[in-house]
Amino acid sequence: MTKVAIVTGGTRGIGRATSIALKDAGYSVAANYAGNDAAAAAFTEETGIPAFKWSVADYDACAKGVAEVEAALGPVSVLVNNAGITRDAFFHKMTPQQWREVIDTNLSGAFNMTHNVWTGMRERKFGRVVCISSINGQKGQAGQANYSAAKAGDIGFVKALAQEGARAGITINAICPGYIATDMVMAVDQKIRDAITAQIPVGHLGAPEDIARCVVFLASDDAGFITGSTVTANGGQYLA
Ligand code: NDP
Repeated sequence: MTKVAIVTGGTRGIGRATSIALKDAGYSVAANYAGNDAAAAAFTEETGIPAFKWSVADYDACAKGVAEVEAALGPVSVLVNNAGITRDAFFHKMTPQQWREVIDTNLSGAFNMTHNVWTGMRERKFGRVVCISSINGQKGQAGQANYSAAKAGDIGFVKALAQEGARAGITINAICPGYIATDMVMAVDQKIRDAITAQIPVGHLGAPEDIARCVVFLASDDAGFITGSTVTANGGQYLA
């Protein structure tokens, strides 16, 4: 039977590449997004992958969204917690709102989504959850106390849940991308991007497909012995 996968933030950037890679690997994919209807419509037209709109920061919206996907495609076997945002500011200037928005999306979003697929995965004795954390959750980054805290939180979340899910046939892993050429990174000033690239031993930014391939492997039956792990994919920039 075709396995169903939800990719949050699955219409742009790393999520988009992941949705396409999972589809190519034979999954029935639902790509979630938050508000960019034009990008989502263009994505669906181009790929044939249906897009579903809700905010991962809203628990009830996640419950409704998962139910909608399951009614349309069937029970969810694979969840990729990819949706993420940045609200960068040095800490003395960071507002409580900037803190909350990033925590709500990047960390609570993982709880909100995983909690809504967990019971079904436990009942069916199979599940694959992949959380897209970040290099900056591993090493910390000035100007990103909110983002670094949320992404480090994702790693702790994965380690705890791996222990709970193992006997129920559920694996959960984190991937920590380095700098990947998506809208999120291309929005950064060119000078800063050049400085970042200079710190990457392989000499270039990563591509969304570099991360998508890791997700496809972790979602596969072949990866059943891997759980609670943190996969580092950063061109050698930080050796965790
Ligand atoms: P993009 O900004 O390119 O795309 C973000 C996607 O997430 C969009 O589809 C967006 O939807 C969706 N999204 C944002 N907020 C929400 C929300 N509340 N609910 C549902 N969907 C939401 O991001 P990237 O591809 O660059 O990043 C993807 C993930 O990878 C993030 O978690 C990011 O932190 C992480 N990461 C990225 C790195 C990079 O270098 N790019 C490095 C390390 C980690 P919409 O189109 O509607 O806005």
